[in-house]
Amino acid sequence: MKLWYPYSQMANKMSRYPVQKAEGVHLYLKDGKKLIDGVSSWWATIHGYNHPALNEALVKQAENFSHVMLGGLDHQPALQLAEKLVQITPAGLNHVFYSDSGSVGVEVALKMAIQFWVNQGNKQKVKFLALKNAYHGDTFKAMEVGDDSDFQIPFGHVLHKGFFLSTPSGGFSATEDEVEGDIAELEQMLQRNHRELAAFIVEPLVQCAGGFKMYSPAYLKAARALCHTYDVLLIFDEVATGFGRTGKLFAADHAGVTPDIMVLGKALTAGYLGHAATLTTSRIFDGFLGEGYDKAFMHGPTFMGNPLACAIALKSINLIEEENYLKKIEQIERTFRERLAPLQHEKVHAVRVLGAIGVVEVKDSKQLEGFTEYAVQEGVWLRPFGKYVYTMPPYVMEQDDLVKVISVISNWFKKQ
Ligand SMILES: *Cc1c(COP(=O)(O)O)cnc(C)c1O
Repeated sequence: MKLWYPYSQMANKMSRYPVQKAEGVHLYLKDGKKLIDGVSSWWATIHGYNHPALNEALVKQAENFSHVMLGGLDHQPALQLAEKLVQITPAGLNHVFYSDSGSVGVEVALKMAIQFWVNQGNKQKVKFLALKNAYHGDTFKAMEVGDDSDFQIPFGHVLHKGFFLSTPSGGFSATEDEVEGDIAELEQMLQRNHRELAAFIVEPLVQCAGGFKMYSPAYLKAARALCHTYDVLLIFDEVATGFGRTGKLFAADHAGVTPDIMVLGKALTAGYLGHAATLTTSRIFDGFLGEGYDKAFMHGPTFMGNPLACAIALKSINLIEEENYLKKIEQIERTFRERLAPLQHEKVHAVRVLGAIGVVEVKDSKQLEGFTEYAVQEGVWLRPFGKYVYTMPPYVMEQDDLVKVISVISNWFKKQ
């Protein structure tokens, strides 16, 4: 096997499904089989595949220029996208640093946090606080703030882990009283360790790859206030939650708070090209201003601000706004609540729904063995991992297709 696949034991013979064509929410396999994509290709293809307006934006930019370095040169797609991102993200996030993937966007955020303090002469604040079950990417520092041991087992002895807190309890709808204990744990942690903490990093409201645990906006509000009190930066990793996935444009909007740094990726470029954006407040940005280069942020991915990626991102945001995607997402959520949330079965531990995310957690991962093959048979693309079978569909999915995706999940349990 010449091609080395992700998250794979290459010694195992594993069926992979060759895609020949994709259009709308459908994947067409080489054998002619048509699958409804319930995963949005790792949560990115929010408008579906082969979208005419996105294709047009891509081609138009390619005919102009596909790439120029952002060192010393400048271009409209990068400037316009920065402007747009500042406009649509929580108030106060005024500056945008581009990179080429979510993991690198997280690295940028973590480096910025440490250097922000160094630039003030403080070299003590070098550690990070994160949540259990967090996933922030596969690069080294991103692994250090992540807590998914499956991804990290071979590196346990080289990772310099910081501090971790329990995932807040009570789910999305938990009240301030219900998360009181979690907030107390956070406060105690900050009280004890703020002197060495550069930042607290979270996936706001939904921890995706770490098991789709959901928690309350009340916790984010409290975290915002406490991080302020203890002078610890707050980083929101919205690589998965950004661009409508939780029912609002950004998860931060549910809590009405502005983090010091926010990372966007995945759906940013609608599944066309890898790109990410790390946004900061002016307080952070201004902390890097100075005479020489010693305070400057010396980081610059080759493909940062790639014009094709920026042009697609701009068009994608345009579509979200003009075609009222938040309404579409609301309808998806309603359908999940009506048809997926009531699922009960002795093998099902919990069902969680928020925005365009529907998750069934089983009691034992063995209960999902063979699920992908079964779903493909049924004409749906779903790929469970661990104890979770989930769907994060493209927002443009028609009701019939969505109902089909949900019924393929619930029928799996009925037939057991
Ligand atoms: C996917 C993901 C990342 C990593 O993004 P890549 O583009 O795969 O590097 C980081 N954070 C979160 C929350 C993610 O879901």
